[in-house]
Amino acid sequence: MKTTVPSTRMPALFIGHGTPMNALESNEFTQSWARLGECIGKPKAILVVSAHWQTRGVAVTAMPRPRTIHDFGAFPQALFDVRYPAPGDPVLAARIARLLEPLSTQLDQQWGLDHGTWSILVHMYPRADVPVLQLSMDLTQPPSLHYEMGERLRQLRDEGVLIVGTGNIVHNLGMLSFAHPDSGFEWAERFQQRCLDIVANGDDRDLVKFQTLGADANRAIPGPDHFLPLLYVLGARDHKDDAVEFITPKCVLGSLSMMSIALWPSALP
Ligand code: ZN
Repeated sequence: MKTTVPSTRMPALFIGHGTPMNALESNEFTQSWARLGECIGKPKAILVVSAHWQTRGVAVTAMPRPRTIHDFGAFPQALFDVRYPAPGDPVLAARIARLLEPLSTQLDQQWGLDHGTWSILVHMYPRADVPVLQLSMDLTQPPSLHYEMGERLRQLRDEGVLIVGTGNIVHNLGMLSFAHPDSGFEWAERFQQRCLDIVANGDDRDLVKFQTLGADANRAIPGPDHFLPLLYVLGARDHKDDAVEFITPKCVLGSLSMMSIALWPSALP
């Protein structure tokens, strides 16, 4: 028998964020993020796992007013001028720390919102009127733990919290090719498609073993930081209920996948 899904259940999203310039641009990717915000409506809060916050030990932002962090180098001043003044939610931060027990989670007062978060949220929720928290990734932990953390966080979806992982499934900056603005190298397209097939088949745990998936995976994931946010989202998946949507399954600049993945509950809020 199918269990009843609470009508407040939120989707879970993995967003391929690409260049920080997407914050300022209007293109097929940013337009798809705006559409997601419109379809989902206003969550109670947004919990983001960003490729760009890596720590020793796990931390969750717990300040009432997270600052906008400009964590990049040579970009136009207009990008440094972007502010995303969404509030935080210290009470939810404490609840998240409890959900992750026995893992010890630091209630962080230093970080804020990095560009992995605000470059997409300026399009999804341009009014910045939904509380946003970030959860850091402890890269000293094995991939399986990142997936398990997603499992522990899954119940937040039933409390109106939108879980977002932000990274890129193929992310090899050393191989970027400006001769391929609108497509990927063969290996990049192949690995993106392989990930799509694995998620479509519901074999998510195969992606926890991404380090054993062969040469394409090694090229696509030279460092785990942009891939691991996906594991949190897959951990938060309800295999009995969620429908999967692949959004802009497309590579750009040779070695960057802009594919996003939405897990939609049957009972939308
Ligand atoms: Zn990034």
